[in-house]
Amino acid sequence: MINLNVWGGAGEHGRSCYVLTGEKHQIMLDCGIKKEGTGQYPLFDPNIIPGLTAVFLSHAHEDHSMALPLLYKHGYSGEIWTTKPTASQLSLYFSNWKRYVASKGGDLPYDEIHISAMRFRFLEDEIKAGDWLELEKGLQIQWGRSGHMIGSVWMKFQMEDRHLFFSGDFSRESLLLDIDPPRETLPVEIAENGRHRRKTSLSIIDNAYGMNGESQDQKLILLREFVLNVLGRGGHVLLPVPAFGRGQELLIWALRVFPEQKILAEQEIWDGLLQMTAWQDWLRPKAIRQIASALHSSQVYVPGNEEDRRSLLREKEALIIFTTDGMMESPRARWYARRLAESRNHAIIVTGHASEGTYAQRLLKGETEDSGSEVVQMGFKIHQGLHDVRQMMNEVPSCKTVLVHAPKSETDRVIANLALDGYEGVYSLEPGAVFRI
Ligand SMILES: [Zn+2]
Ligand SMILES: [Zn+2]
Repeated sequence: MINLNVWGGAGEHGRSCYVLTGEKHQIMLDCGIKKEGTGQYPLFDPNIIPGLTAVFLSHAHEDHSMALPLLYKHGYSGEIWTTKPTASQLSLYFSNWKRYVASKGGDLPYDEIHISAMRFRFLEDEIKAGDWLELEKGLQIQWGRSGHMIGSVWMKFQMEDRHLFFSGDFSRESLLLDIDPPRETLPVEIAENGRHRRKTSLSIIDNAYGMNGESQDQKLILLREFVLNVLGRGGHVLLPVPAFGRGQELLIWALRVFPEQKILAEQEIWDGLLQMTAWQDWLRPKAIRQIASALHSSQVYVPGNEEDRRSLLREKEALIIFTTDGMMESPRARWYARRLAESRNHAIIVTGHASEGTYAQRLLKGETEDSGSEVVQMGFKIHQGLHDVRQMMNEVPSCKTVLVHAPKSETDRVIANLALDGYEGVYSLEPGAVFRI
């Protein structure tokens, strides 16, 4: 028997953290934060942490990773299993998180020594995607690329007599990133042994988009129309995006869809694109060519300082501007918002989740003095909606499926909808839940 303890991430957006407890092993999947107030952390039981067999990290985003140092503060001395790109992206997320917490008048609940105490093991060094690796007797893992960001993975575990699947954050519709479909495969000795269950016992599946069924293509058609409209009226388009992820996707997309358009990309986003060339194993074959040609494009301007930015904005020609960060908490994102507030012709497009109280959220609600430009929210798909969940449930048939990464009321609606199609054993949980498998 195995228990799932939800320490965060189900019934909410943020602080992904799941603990699976068996007879002998106890593992943790992700350890993130929720970007609200001065930060919300997983519902830790400090007594459990020193005894964890292993910790697994699906990707670098703060809602999956930024509470990891707390494990070392509470006595964990083991390793964090993840991928090389994920580990190398973490330092940027730590410095952003530290700045964010300070800007809200809060304190980090851990110190620099806990960050440097983190020890990593790299999945791709040990085993290739789709193969099984025995970590210890009674604990095997398989991984594959999840298409959500560079280095992001899904994971399967054979823990004692149970087979478990964790999608991480998942998207089949990235323009640049490749995936490994998480098809149903059991370790050979398990599949051949009739005593073991052949079906996956538990799947924890990303359903951040809830009922939304829009495809990437549909979203990008709407985005293209909107951008064309703004540029047509002489306005700049500001796209605040995370340093890694959809920023690079949208930059490549914009270069292809608006081949004559002048684009301003901040250094971090440009660096992210450069970095992608070092991680080609994670890319679709055609993306490698697209990135190479983007890096030589004369359409893109990377400003070196504030004077560069000011002079680019002063020119007559309308710009598409890519800056960090997605929730617009950084001084530079706000600087752009203030500049663009001078005319209603300009537009700001929030392309991801904007947490309560963040600057992006307040702009969307018209609650800041910088609300002079048009501010809209138009998604770029990096998570799963209703149809994707259905496809994943067909691909990985499970006795029990827990949908995560969205408010509980939204998850409840998805489950009611799936029930109409005959899907059973789908659950909507909340932080603090204990779930028997
Ligand atoms: Zn993510
Ligand atoms: Zn996430």
